Amino acid sequence: MNLFEMAKIPLNKAIEVMKLDPSAADIIATPERTLEVSIPVRMDDGTTKVFTGYRSQHSTIMGPAKGGVRYHPGVNMDEVKTLAFWMTCKCAVAGLPYGGGKGGIVCRPREMSKGELERLTRTYIDKISAIISPNTDIPAPDVGTNAQTMDWMVDEYSKLKGESVYGIVTGKSIEIGGSKGRNEATGRGVCFVTLEMMKKYNMKPEDCKIVIQGMGNVGSISAKLLAEEGAKIIAVSDVSCAIYNENGLDIAGIYKYLDSGKNLLDGYTGDCKRITNAELLELPCDILIPAALENQITAENADRIKAKIVIEAANGPTSVEADEILNKKGVKVLPDILSNSGGVIVSYFEWVQNLQNFYWEEDDVNAKLKRQIVGAFNDVFDASEKYDCTFRVAAYIVALNRLVTAKKLRG
Ligand code: NAD
Repeated sequence: MNLFEMAKIPLNKAIEVMKLDPSAADIIATPERTLEVSIPVRMDDGTTKVFTGYRSQHSTIMGPAKGGVRYHPGVNMDEVKTLAFWMTCKCAVAGLPYGGGKGGIVCRPREMSKGELERLTRTYIDKISAIISPNTDIPAPDVGTNAQTMDWMVDEYSKLKGESVYGIVTGKSIEIGGSKGRNEATGRGVCFVTLEMMKKYNMKPEDCKIVIQGMGNVGSISAKLLAEEGAKIIAVSDVSCAIYNENGLDIAGIYKYLDSGKNLLDGYTGDCKRITNAELLELPCDILIPAALENQITAENADRIKAKIVIEAANGPTSVEADEILNKKGVKVLPDILSNSGGVIVSYFEWVQNLQNFYWEEDDVNAKLKRQIVGAFNDVFDASEKYDCTFRVAAYIVALNRLVTAKKLRG
């Protein structure tokens, strides 16, 4: 089974639970359009290398396609289509007027110079410019791309159009149309949904022991904000190792330490014990937040997970088999398409600000993010009660309901 077919398993489950006509899923069974382009780039040594790029618009039923562009050697069409499908579902759960899209270039960005990356990015935009615009498809950063990549994209697209078109991508630098609060948005959203889960299960932050895998952008902001709410973060990790203190770690100190660019194994000297990432996942705790990579909780370790609640901050951290095992054990899993939607929600706000040419203060962005993601959380929670199903299936039910209704109305 390819990745795209696997990704549709919870969607098919949602159709079964909702007793929908299976043909309802046909509207999102395949992407509306996928473009493959070749990208010739003059390298620093004078040679020309041809890269392969993709842009997939999975669905535009709810609005323009929205989704990141990934620079990675493993990028392929199946992956791009699957990621675009997830974006359709994520935007629909979050209640955004967006469809789903994704792009990628097969390359090794860490082995390329800044000049080579800029030329690659500009030519990619030239090649896909016929199918993107602020009203049709809006790219954003993903693995291997960042605000600088988006800034080049804006510049190239604006040159092609002969005017500044800030709304063509999101995740830009604040100086050229980026939104305040975008950088922290995914972690902040994770914090909001975690606090909502605590409320639903009568848990107080100060009584909660939380474990977080991955102290990158998403994990470190989630850790910082949850610690500020009074939760005890007992273990965190990065790619180098994990650290643990059953009485709670000094998150503010760790955040400052990691900000200096070192990893945890390099010499963090706070009060803690070093453990492995595998051990971290199996620690006794109330809430586990995988915020690093996909496929971390698998059939191999799911039985040993002791958390009562898993908040999927990373994309796809739980395999299909592991999901079944956790479900049978009674572990509540809040799915990625809801938990990490804070990023795309604030991307939407960035685009709205660009279209209005009117920029908001960070407090305003954060308050609007809270309202949107807590609303989505409640919709998913209510659907899980109504249909007596897991939060993952409930999230797909919410998404599918919105997509099917929009399709019916559009005819
Ligand atoms: P990041 O690169 O900033 O951080 C990743 C973290 O994971 C780092 O601390 C890294 O050291 C750690 N890590 C890497 N390999 C590891 C391993 N083998 N074991 C344990 N830790 C490891 O990435 P990020 O932006 O924080 O994204 C994290 C996850 O969240 C990804 O799955 C990403 O797709 C997802 N996500 C991110 C955003 C966003 O806005 N950044 C939005 C939605 C989803």
